[in-house]
Amino acid sequence: MKLNFSGLRALVTGAGKGIGRGTVKALHASGAKVVAVTRTNADLVSLTKEVRHTALPWPGPQGYIRSWLGQSLTQATKQCLSQCPGIEPVCVDLGDWEATEKALRNIGPVDLLVNNAGVTLVQPFIESTKEVFDRSFNVNVRSVLQVSQVVAKGMISRGVAGSIVNISSMVAYVTFPGLTTYSSTKGALTMLTKAMAMELGPHKIRVNSVNPTVVLTDMGKKVSANPNFAKKLKQRHPLRKFAEVEDVVNSILFLLSDSSASTTGSSILVDAGYLAS
Ligand code: NDP
Repeated sequence: MKLNFSGLRALVTGAGKGIGRGTVKALHASGAKVVAVTRTNADLVSLTKEVRHTALPWPGPQGYIRSWLGQSLTQATKQCLSQCPGIEPVCVDLGDWEATEKALRNIGPVDLLVNNAGVTLVQPFIESTKEVFDRSFNVNVRSVLQVSQVVAKGMISRGVAGSIVNISSMVAYVTFPGLTTYSSTKGALTMLTKAMAMELGPHKIRVNSVNPTVVLTDMGKKVSANPNFAKKLKQRHPLRKFAEVEDVVNSILFLLSDSSASTTGSSILVDAGYLAS
């Protein structure tokens, strides 16, 4: 999906891998400046390198050799090599309230927010522990409240419209064995999305969610690691497939953009029809 976000600044959480990483790259390619927030610094280093590489003007093979030798680069190439224009990395564990507060204290103006960071800690209901429950809710729900508060306060004080997209899951509506806590976090996120939409609407801030089925990211591979389960699960989807990162990113960009100007408190299922089956 090609949308134009030039002149806007976005913040994406969980930017290091999977859906978050894909979202950062798509927003950057659509002209937005992006604050990329994640937990593992090595992911931020590789992300900025990757984006810088794709943003490099193609100098031709001889240009690359000259670049390697440090000779006669164009101004644009020099700029791309010296920094990654448009990506601002922030490394923090969003499950830690105080660390997050500190990391985002001077985050500056944000127009678009994607609350994507999440953990899937699998435990049967009967064996569910306080540690897993607290960690899951802190990362998947509490951090959404905290980061959105910071961003929304900034939008309100600047008097600008904004759009927030929370990455939920189809398991907000249906669940699977072992996902008691995880699907509870996503169910809570559905109501948090509606509550935020209600209170932020008068400030022209829209809040929606995207609810995917399995996407074969690191997280998705872990959840569907059993090949028999994965095969059966795929067959239960009317489209006989899982979703791709790109499918989820396209829905995120749509909800961030003015193309969805009258949509708030809503969710888009990217579930290959699972909930219709
Ligand atoms: P990945 O595990 O591939 O990526 C998650 C990203 O979030 C990683 O960069 C991870 O960093 C980061 N992250 C996790 N915890 C924290 C934290 N405490 N602080 C900061 N960053 C953190 O997951 P996906 O891309 O698959 O998932 C993205 C979102 O989509 C999640 O909210 C997930 O629940 C949802 N989703 C995913 C589905 C799937 O099948 N993949 C299906 C439905 C919904 P690090 O690796 O360093 O911890």
